[in-house]
Amino acid sequence: MGDKAAYDLWWKNAVIYCLDVELFADGNGDGCGDFPGLTGKVDYLAGLGVTCIWLMPFYPTPNKDNGYDISDFYGVDPRLGSLGDLVEFLRAARERGIRVIADLVVNHTSDQHPWFQSARADERSPFRDFYVWADEQPEGPQGVVFPDAEDSNWNYDEVAGKWFLHRFYSHMPDLNIANPRVREEISKVVGYWLELGLSGFRVDAAPFVIELAGTEPERGQDPHDFLRDLRAFLNRRRGDAILLAEANLPPEEQRRFFGDEGGDEMHMLFNFVLNQHVFLALVRQDPAPIKQALREQPPVPEANQWANFIKNHDELTLDKLTDAEREEVFAALAPDPDMRSFGRGIRRRVPTMLEGDRDRMELLYSLLFTLPGSPVLLYGEEIGLGDDQRVEGRGAVRVAMQWSPGPNAGFTTGEPAVPVVTEGPFGPDRVNVAAQRRDPESLLNWMERAIRTRKELPELGWGAWRVLEADQPSVLAHRCDWLGRGVLVLHNLGPDRVKVTVDLGDDVEAGRPMPDLLGNRHHDPATTGQPLTLRGFGYRWLRLPG
Ligand code: MG
Repeated sequence: MGDKAAYDLWWKNAVIYCLDVELFADGNGDGCGDFPGLTGKVDYLAGLGVTCIWLMPFYPTPNKDNGYDISDFYGVDPRLGSLGDLVEFLRAARERGIRVIADLVVNHTSDQHPWFQSARADERSPFRDFYVWADEQPEGPQGVVFPDAEDSNWNYDEVAGKWFLHRFYSHMPDLNIANPRVREEISKVVGYWLELGLSGFRVDAAPFVIELAGTEPERGQDPHDFLRDLRAFLNRRRGDAILLAEANLPPEEQRRFFGDEGGDEMHMLFNFVLNQHVFLALVRQDPAPIKQALREQPPVPEANQWANFIKNHDELTLDKLTDAEREEVFAALAPDPDMRSFGRGIRRRVPTMLEGDRDRMELLYSLLFTLPGSPVLLYGEEIGLGDDQRVEGRGAVRVAMQWSPGPNAGFTTGEPAVPVVTEGPFGPDRVNVAAQRRDPESLLNWMERAIRTRKELPELGWGAWRVLEADQPSVLAHRCDWLGRGVLVLHNLGPDRVKVTVDLGDDVEAGRPMPDLLGNRHHDPATTGQPLTLRGFGYRWLRLPG
């Protein structure tokens, strides 16, 4: 693929920033973050260097599941502002060259959605078949998503006198994706937001969305047809819009979600497997789990991309590790069982898991920016935002952004309506944007430098990559090559300083200089064929001679 076409596929080299409007900045002093507050921070995000903002659900909602329980797909929840405020934000982002994508939550609706209210009240309702009903409680599907809250995927509705399917909470009935009219409605929702200027969607719970898609016997359809149709519709309406799917699956099942050879389904998939193995490698101080995950992941069609992340807005799920591996990570990063969720994940942010250890935080984010894929940051990661363990369950990581010192962290001038960290080592007096802007050594300024460097190196997003042989077991060495240019990246997962010799491959001549692009200290100039120095938990990004 040529130069020009490559740059058009913006998601191949994007830096995505996920935020929840209600937690970011409050513009009107009512204690809840909102679109006017966010619009006031767009220059901050432009300065950080992110190229795409992912908005978590902002739609009208009873808000019993952080807005993932939607009661109107076409609006803005009044707590967050008006539709006009949203459009102002989209304009402000576009003017700074930042794209915006948003959650598309179509596995289910809130039980307060007018479709469900109509469906349950009247069996002749045109919306009855928008949901999945049964006279008797069916046995499957097996397994529940929230084992602490639900013990079945079916709930009896007194009004309808029938059971309805819910893969998540019982107040969120599943939509019947097998129904062509439901699909039409979903297309309409997608088309609507594209018209308002969105560059695509993060598809919530993608495997659950299509779980029922092929189950109507007379249709005999491939469930993936729905995703292919959705993709085709999206790109007919807007050629550069993307679908980024949440699909936490084993490697052999991930490939299906990218689609056929041409990659005709999801443009991007979150790399859950790699994420979990990065944490295992961190805890073991050994890069082997990362190498294993990279080796086992399916190849990606050229126009598709992995979305890499360190921490997302849910618990840090470790469900793709073995029980013994998961226990190792728990013991190191969540020693108190209260710090865990659902027996499978950790409800903490990175700085509290690592007790603020800057060296290992930089190591993690250097991995994020250099492993094959495009990086996704969760708001607050750039300053080392902590969590609030007093908030139940997964919600512990969903705390207000900290802009300045003081009791409400500059998040609101009113009484906070969302969790705000007030004290401790990660309280606003110690962790905030204002102080970090003034400190050249701050995590925020490091993150800006790392993002700038990452954007200057399209090889990392586009390139053919391979893991290289290194003579130190604690070192992960990989290179990425694209259009005749190459980058060498080294990470030392161990605590000790090492001198490492890396086999760069036959195409690299010995004795040539390799300029340092980013590292955690100044090093002696690097030369091909010579040992390279890395401090404990150190990393270096180097330009390969061309
Ligand atoms: Mg507000």
